[in-house]
Amino acid sequence: MQRKLIFEHSKKGKTGATIPKCDVPQQKITNLIPKYFLRENLNNLPQISEPEVVRHYTNLSTLNHHVDKDFYPLGSCTMKYNPKINEAIASNSQFTEIHPAQLSETTQGSLKILYKVEKYLCEITNMNAFTLHPAAGSHGELTGVMIIRQYHKFKNNKKKYILIPDSAHGTNPASVIIGGYKTIKINSTEEGLVDIDDLKSKLNDEVAGFMLTNPNTLGIFEENVLEISKLIHSVDGLMYMDGANLNALLGIVKINNMGFDITHLNLHKTFSTPHGGGGPGSGPIGVTEKLKRFLPTPIVIKENNNYKLEYNLPDSIGKIHSYFGNFNVVLKTYVYLRMLGEDGLKDVSKNSIINANYLRACLKDKFQISSPKIPMHECVFSGDKQKEKGAKTLDIAKRLLDYGMHAPTIYFPLIVSEALMIEPTETESKETLDRFVEIMLQIDKEIENNVELVKNAPQSTPNSRLDEATASRELDVNYFMTNS
Ligand SMILES: *Cc1c(COP(=O)(O)O)cnc(C)c1O
Repeated sequence: MQRKLIFEHSKKGKTGATIPKCDVPQQKITNLIPKYFLRENLNNLPQISEPEVVRHYTNLSTLNHHVDKDFYPLGSCTMKYNPKINEAIASNSQFTEIHPAQLSETTQGSLKILYKVEKYLCEITNMNAFTLHPAAGSHGELTGVMIIRQYHKFKNNKKKYILIPDSAHGTNPASVIIGGYKTIKINSTEEGLVDIDDLKSKLNDEVAGFMLTNPNTLGIFEENVLEISKLIHSVDGLMYMDGANLNALLGIVKINNMGFDITHLNLHKTFSTPHGGGGPGSGPIGVTEKLKRFLPTPIVIKENNNYKLEYNLPDSIGKIHSYFGNFNVVLKTYVYLRMLGEDGLKDVSKNSIINANYLRACLKDKFQISSPKIPMHECVFSGDKQKEKGAKTLDIAKRLLDYGMHAPTIYFPLIVSEALMIEPTETESKETLDRFVEIMLQIDKEIENNVELVKNAPQSTPNSRLDEATASRELDVNYFMTNS
């Protein structure tokens, strides 16, 4: 079926607004393309029936593991419930066929959604303003670091360093360096919390801020966060919270109340956009009142019951994304928040905490726990005991694939040897968790009785283990020139 060309549209849009006249003459599209680009003969495509095509793609879709196939307990990366209704709404032509450069009178509905989501995120975190522009968590971090720079520039502060605990996600130090600061690593205690003495010994007037994940990557709530905030603020540093995985705190703790000045949230982890496969994502950042004027432009404002975009922010760090970020991800967040409401969000956190602690309790006799502290939304084990018997954490992860489950995050956080970082998420049932526990205990038994089986896993996937040593030593990268 041939689509109507855009320039054949009438001069009045649905809303009655005038669409600028396009000068391209109305003619067949093939006349617009130079002759030498046009195909002379029809392509000789194979003739295949519809069922064959459907089967082909259905088979392809099941070769990789995915969250619609079975359990996917990827710690720190939250592969959770992504309601299908969100996808239907995000692909609705009333949203997909608007152009971000349209006049704001014609996009009131979409601007309202941006405005509302910003307000909801403020309510959830108690921050004073949000920008929805950053396209990923790491992009939010960089934006946050740029705001930290702007703050210190306006105050004439001479700052050089941002402090980061050794348990942090790798994007934290990367964002700090790209943002123009140097990092100082803060050690963790045996329990996995920030070592306050180490922090005090490294704190000085050149510290621009502290980037903290709470709960941290061990899943543990940083109970000294108020003391840490006080210390950082005493040298006019700013507190930044990596809130990529907020499903531990929703409706329970507000980020601002812990002393944070800036935070980013990952809509594509906590607020129901599928994550993985490279995007699109969204990593909004929230700030307190004193940092509002530095936010990227434009911001959505409401005036006389009309929504419009405000570009006039003289102290802003400028633009960090074309237009207003990834709107379709924000749209899914809007639907998700409206569906759950305040009580629903609190249940998300309660259930994610219960699920993680249930797994911890069921597995801790066989797998070594990484901290005596009660975790929140995820739990981290060490595979040290299994390694002594000849199977590394990598082998356990590969063996899980044979049982049709995805592996947890492994070898992260770096401070836990042979780490297995498990995040069951709030939407998995007790039956699924029990099946996972059973499989993990079975693998532990296999390590005892037939370690080769685990070391040679997976046996049932289309591709078995890649030869990682050869791959890194004899890198074979093909580069295709299109015109050669
Ligand atoms: C995922 C994650 C990030 C980075 O988010 P991206 O969207 O992948 O850039 C940062 N910090 C933590 C704790 C994360 O889990």
